[in-house]
Amino acid sequence: CGIVGYVGRQDAVPLLIEGLQRLEYRGYDSAGVAAVKNGTLRVAKAEGKVRDLLDGLPKKVAGPIGIGHTRWATHGPPSDLNAHPHVDADEHVAVVHNGILENADSLRAELEREGVEFLSDTDTEILAHLVGRSTQPELEDKVREALRRVQGAYGIAVIDTRTPDRIVVARNGSPVVLGIGNREMLVASDVAALVKHVQQVVFLDDGEMAVLTADGFTTSTLDRKKTDKEPQEIEGDVED
Ligand code: GLU
Repeated sequence: CGIVGYVGRQDAVPLLIEGLQRLEYRGYDSAGVAAVKNGTLRVAKAEGKVRDLLDGLPKKVAGPIGIGHTRWATHGPPSDLNAHPHVDADEHVAVVHNGILENADSLRAELEREGVEFLSDTDTEILAHLVGRSTQPELEDKVREALRRVQGAYGIAVIDTRTPDRIVVARNGSPVVLGIGNREMLVASDVAALVKHVQQVVFLDDGEMAVLTADGFTTSTLDRKKTDKEPQEIEGDVED
């Protein structure tokens, strides 16, 4: 339902929580955040309100890069375990996802035959395992490889402890907006989560992905062709 992400020099988690609160109006049943600090991925998620997540949020869930999500359940009931982010078996990769994967059942069965143990009922966890198991060296190529296997609609954001300087995002039928900050980058599914922090945004097109680092972003098609995006000014004051 709602996606937020941050990479920069501040602690990502308060920014993610604030962004998720700005997406609450869209409705959701659970929420979660993941952040990487000193090479370790920490995840907190909870059924219920963003407030419930915040109330139980361990201090160690912190770091200069992170992603967050508000979920509207499609695959599996609302629960702490089904809330996003979802993580691969080695706890390197965390994924948040808006949308529905149409071929989830067959992909899940295939991964289970290969010995993957699922922790949730979601279609999204499939993506975490596919990215985690990819042998491509670059995160963007791991994500590309995973996305080639899935059918359906998605907006996703992915982080990986092995490349803790970047968020990889992609869009196919579910909005993804990049926010260009001052030596920091944000991403969200809705510009409402960005207005407090940035003055310039970039809307991804379907079939497009982006790599965000503290210093900027690059965009390309899912099949690796570079794309040129013109940032747009947004109205309103940046409060920070
Ligand atoms: N299909 C995913 C799930 O059920 C994502 C739902 C959403 O868009 O929030 O967890």
